[in-house]
Amino acid sequence: MSSGAPGLFGQGSLELDLEGQLELSLAEEPSAASSADQARQSVDDLVRGAQRYRTASQYADLLRAVGSSRHLSPLNAVLVDVQRPGATHVLTAARWRERHRRVVRADAQPLVVLAPRGPVTFVFDVTGTEPLEGAPPLPLEVTDPGAAVAATGEPALTARLDRLVDNLVGLGVGVRTGRLGSQQAGSVRAVTGGRPLRRERVARGGRQQTVVERVPLRYEVVLADGLEPRRRLVALLHAAAHVLCGHLGTPDPLWWPDRSGVEHDVEEWEAESVAHLVARRADSSVELPPSVQQHLEAGLQPPLFSLERLARATGDLEAYGTRRFRSAELGRARPTT
Ligand SMILES: [Zn+2]
Repeated sequence: MSSGAPGLFGQGSLELDLEGQLELSLAEEPSAASSADQARQSVDDLVRGAQRYRTASQYADLLRAVGSSRHLSPLNAVLVDVQRPGATHVLTAARWRERHRRVVRADAQPLVVLAPRGPVTFVFDVTGTEPLEGAPPLPLEVTDPGAAVAATGEPALTARLDRLVDNLVGLGVGVRTGRLGSQQAGSVRAVTGGRPLRRERVARGGRQQTVVERVPLRYEVVLADGLEPRRRLVALLHAAAHVLCGHLGTPDPLWWPDRSGVEHDVEEWEAESVAHLVARRADSSVELPPSVQQHLEAGLQPPLFSLERLARATGDLEAYGTRRFRSAELGRARPTT
């Protein structure tokens, strides 16, 4: 699409491939960098301000929306829901035309989302589009995104678990099994002075040589003995979410903020939500977290959690289960937008 909403985020040509390849070319103007920063700032403010009007049932709707919008990063799915609750499937105008032979109506509301290497781009919900002549019927992923993903089989689950553990080791999070209380599936704590973790990788250049990196042990996760893979994955996601949400402090504020002062119920709310969302985006049969369920039944308001941090931690943990990151990548840039 060409630049939308002139004046709001400056001029530029923005193109979004929602399968993860995002391209963006900003007009070569001296003000491009600062308008990019401003755009990101506006988006951050949008997400930060969003929780003020959320009830437990709005929150449950948000979880369902982010859990089923797999073609968007979790943060972008949150952004879409914040701007237009109930949006079902969003694409750029160009993608609607190419993939579904649909055009965006003149009165459709543009929704701003983040692009990984640029500032922002604009997308439109399916309800703001209409078919061109000869357009095919909309596929299930558009009409019923919640029903589109089947449960993951055990080999895929185990592979995901292994990749997650490996990437967490790269961040200094050691994972082991042990005996825990009967109600407890996992635990996590910050540690200092432990033995460094070993992370192996195959050397480049075609030789089958293994290189061992040593990573300082910063956090230790203990998972209960004998958990079946699905519960093990959720317990690990929950524990890792505490780390990535900053509940145990931070080794570097660029990795994640130090949020060690937040209240316990907020910590649990965030960790449960992150674990739920990562699991739900891989398997649509995953149910709402118990604490959200309880809030819904009792008509309680959600605690004052950080929606932005929750979305970013979800994006990071989803990426960590999907591919292996080099330790340097893990340490510097976050994989999420
Ligand atoms: Zn917890």
